[in-house]
Amino acid sequence: MTPEMEIREKLNELGRNLWWTWRPDVRSIFRDLDPRLWQEVNHNPTALLRDTPGEVLVRRAEELGLESRVHHAFRRLAEYMGSAPGDGGVHLGPLRVRPVAYFSAEFALHEAVPIYSGGLGVLAGDHVKSASDLGVPLVAVGLYYSRGYFRQWLDREGWQQETYPEVKNPDMPLELLRDDHGEPITVALETAAGALQVALWRVRVGRSDLLLLDTDVEGNSAQDREITSRLYGGDHRTRIRQELVLGVGGVRALRRLGICPGVLHLNEGHTAFALLESCRAQMEDEGVDFPTARDRVSRQAVFTTHTPVEAGHDRFEPELVEEVLGGLRKALGLGPEEFLGLGRVDPADRGEAFCMTVLAMRLSDRANAVSSLHGHVSRRMWRRLYGGGRGLEVPIGHITNGVHVPSWLARPMHLLYERHAGRDWARRSYRPEEWAGLEALDPGELWETHQVLKRRLVRFARERLAEQAARRSDPEASMARLRTVLDPEVLTIGFARRFATYKRATLLLDDVDRLARMVGKVERPVQVVFAGLAHPHDQGGKQYIQRIFQLGRDPRFEGRVVYLEGYDMNIARLLVQGVDVWLNTPVRPHEACGTSGIKALLNGVLNVSVLDGWWAEAYDGRNGFAIGRGGSHADPQVQWRRDAEELYRVLETQVVPEFYHRGPDGVPTEWVQRMKQAIVTLGWRFSSNRMVLDYLRRAYLPAADGISSGLV
Ligand SMILES: *Cc1c(COP(=O)(O)O)cnc(C)c1O
Repeated sequence: MTPEMEIREKLNELGRNLWWTWRPDVRSIFRDLDPRLWQEVNHNPTALLRDTPGEVLVRRAEELGLESRVHHAFRRLAEYMGSAPGDGGVHLGPLRVRPVAYFSAEFALHEAVPIYSGGLGVLAGDHVKSASDLGVPLVAVGLYYSRGYFRQWLDREGWQQETYPEVKNPDMPLELLRDDHGEPITVALETAAGALQVALWRVRVGRSDLLLLDTDVEGNSAQDREITSRLYGGDHRTRIRQELVLGVGGVRALRRLGICPGVLHLNEGHTAFALLESCRAQMEDEGVDFPTARDRVSRQAVFTTHTPVEAGHDRFEPELVEEVLGGLRKALGLGPEEFLGLGRVDPADRGEAFCMTVLAMRLSDRANAVSSLHGHVSRRMWRRLYGGGRGLEVPIGHITNGVHVPSWLARPMHLLYERHAGRDWARRSYRPEEWAGLEALDPGELWETHQVLKRRLVRFARERLAEQAARRSDPEASMARLRTVLDPEVLTIGFARRFATYKRATLLLDDVDRLARMVGKVERPVQVVFAGLAHPHDQGGKQYIQRIFQLGRDPRFEGRVVYLEGYDMNIARLLVQGVDVWLNTPVRPHEACGTSGIKALLNGVLNVSVLDGWWAEAYDGRNGFAIGRGGSHADPQVQWRRDAEELYRVLETQVVPEFYHRGPDGVPTEWVQRMKQAIVTLGWRFSSNRMVLDYLRRAYLPAADGISSGLV
């Protein structure tokens, strides 16, 4: 093998395990090969290598001393993969032989694998990565959306348009699973219209595997091939069929591969059919009846609920349930009404639709919400399901979400922290001691590192805005002017998330004149960067985007309020690492947890947030800023006005003055103290390693041991 071939092969292999995505030293190898191309291929190693000719590879390898870096990275990967389960010192009990099966409708692992829509996917992706880092045996199960979610762009009026590019292509770091004869492994599902074949793909996420199910298989009808084409895209019928593939197909896939899970973790209600199929499998394998099978499966099941918003819970009409699940129902030996009752709060109420959350809660001994406040809300919300009555203790606990530190922490910050934190700091990020040393960070150095990231964001934003304007052939935008938008010295507010209306992206725009005064100040001005996707059917969310877009054309805001199109993990990373302030304005208590603010705090970006979700338990008065005091009002308009007033007040009286209050060295001393307070006291609490360990101790181990009715 020539040295070129060897390097190419090793790089290809590195690219095929998503471990590289959270290893800054490996990321930089790909980037350094060809920074332009790396950006153009959306950070996809396979595409990068395909488009890099042999002589370029050889030349760059020599220039960069790449050979040794590649060999070193390759050895590190082999070491990582070779380390034993539980090597982090965690007790795994029966999970050593029977792993956790983690079901989710979406996984956000990296921008190059666009099969996610937002926070739920990011949470799932971070969970899988942390399980890998901690050595917790886990197999994740999801769907391979051949056209993903959608790519967002705005037309000249600022109205969101969606295109669905082909996601399924040979550049994806996915491997089709084949049997010993080289034939694709498939599992079959019976439907009213006949059998349906599902193909299986594997994504390597460090030591964890993610199995993706795919109905785009030759032999299936044209309609069936489309089932897994779009995430959250279709009508009710497509949706329930997707959930059939995910839940029932997922359990069959595990069985087909000889994986016998000790725990079934259901991430949100979309996945609940996995429990029914597990019951069926128990009945078939052990010859037991449904109540016995149900009891066994419930003990193994852990269900995580993610939203108190009504529309976030899937509900299906009885006819549709019977059409799609009639076969499974019969196999379970249940009558139609008995079956439907499993998905109803009141099983006897024939007017009640079949709810996936109810099904999941009925069939799981362990259920949890994703923040302390969300726990309270969920217990109130589901009281009736557990019999109502006074003094009832509703068995829903909470495990607060976290984020995967190595995936979201900027490399310059990482390098800075590493000098003060413990050596194995990234993996042991759940321990407060590992972060305590960061108290000693030099304020000037922390501030300068932040400024580097801020300038990087500004450069990126200018380029993006110019591209966006060019695509719209914007008559008004002069390209030259676009290249000077945003000032890295100005207090920069970031807001980026799904444009679900409860998140109230336009709260900051409530009093446009007041905002204009803040933005237009000669001394101590502010600027705002927005990004985010509205669901294709969400007209309200699209109107919010349009308002922000149009505000950016108002001369008072030009170049100071900007909207970046096509929000994805890449833009998310740049924003949470590069702005000064992260704004979060949900209607309390509708944000179950929220994770983007956690990503921000890791990087020393201060949160300005309604006391909702994670922030309600994180805010201590010295680690960021609160909007209001956690009150709520039954009338949403009153609540809106109040929160807007509180938002302006905190910005004008606290955030702006503190940010611009500089010491003789130009460093905002109190501000940097707040950054440190947030990093040191919150970094470990909201890391996904802490979260996965909580699941391990409070849910996975008792479930794998078959202990019934543990409160999470
Ligand atoms: C983190 C993240 C989210 C979640 O943000 P929230 O604040 O929890 O709404 C959504 N989308 C992307 C791309 C993210 O990276």
